[in-house]
Amino acid sequence: TTPARPYRRVLLKLSGEVFGGGKVGLAPDVVRAIAEQIAAAVREGVQVAIVIGGGNFFRGAQLQEQGMDRTRADYMGMLGTVMNCLALQDFLEKAGIDTRVQTAITMGQVAEPYIPRRAIRHLEKGRVVIFGAGAGMPFFSTDTVSAQRALEIGADAVLMSKSGVDGVYDSDPRTNPGATKYDHVTYADALRDGLKVVDAAAFSLCAENGLPMVVFGMEGEGNVTRGLLGEHIGTLVHP
Ligand code: UDP
Repeated sequence: TTPARPYRRVLLKLSGEVFGGGKVGLAPDVVRAIAEQIAAAVREGVQVAIVIGGGNFFRGAQLQEQGMDRTRADYMGMLGTVMNCLALQDFLEKAGIDTRVQTAITMGQVAEPYIPRRAIRHLEKGRVVIFGAGAGMPFFSTDTVSAQRALEIGADAVLMSKSGVDGVYDSDPRTNPGATKYDHVTYADALRDGLKVVDAAAFSLCAENGLPMVVFGMEGEGNVTRGLLGEHIGTLVHP
């Protein structure tokens, strides 16, 4: 086992799919369990910022296939992420953690606008900051936003949680049963092998700026807490 590398500040990406418990909508018990795992890490002193996806509500590309205008569908996708943010905020506060939601599309009744310097201040005070509405721009993904927010707030790493995969493999584990998981891999090697688990824009933002990324599965017991505390889980992708 690798000794824990303590992080000062981490950005955690949570997939919307997980929040839905595999269905459309919200699975409150799942959100509560995730909130409790995050709270445990926050109590140890790590500063946590979060980006949540919206795949449990809408994905712009899917709605486009069903005949919708892509940009309008993407805005619906972004609004879906905000509902996930409010759900996580609720369960984090029930677990005794102070939180702020900041959205890239302003909606003053439910959240602060995205103000990076204010987000950093919240983090320094021990509050969890949850970023909603993605980048506020169609044609982006929440993976890409995670990398961008992590860079802008000076996070030590971005933790990309996935559902159904527990790290980066040398080939697709869903089609190749012999695929092997990397413990560590450099950005250069991952690019050369054409490995994809996070989208290309997120990957290149992290690679170009030397930001370490941990790709891990939500399924493992206590994985979120362990990852936030710097224990080795999943795959570390590093410069
Ligand atoms: N989205 C967008 N711009 C962003 C972030 C998200 O247009 O900056 C939209 C896009 O339609 C996407 C949806 O919001 O499909 C939900 O986000 P994502 O698919 O990344 O969620 P996840 O797969 O992580 O649950």
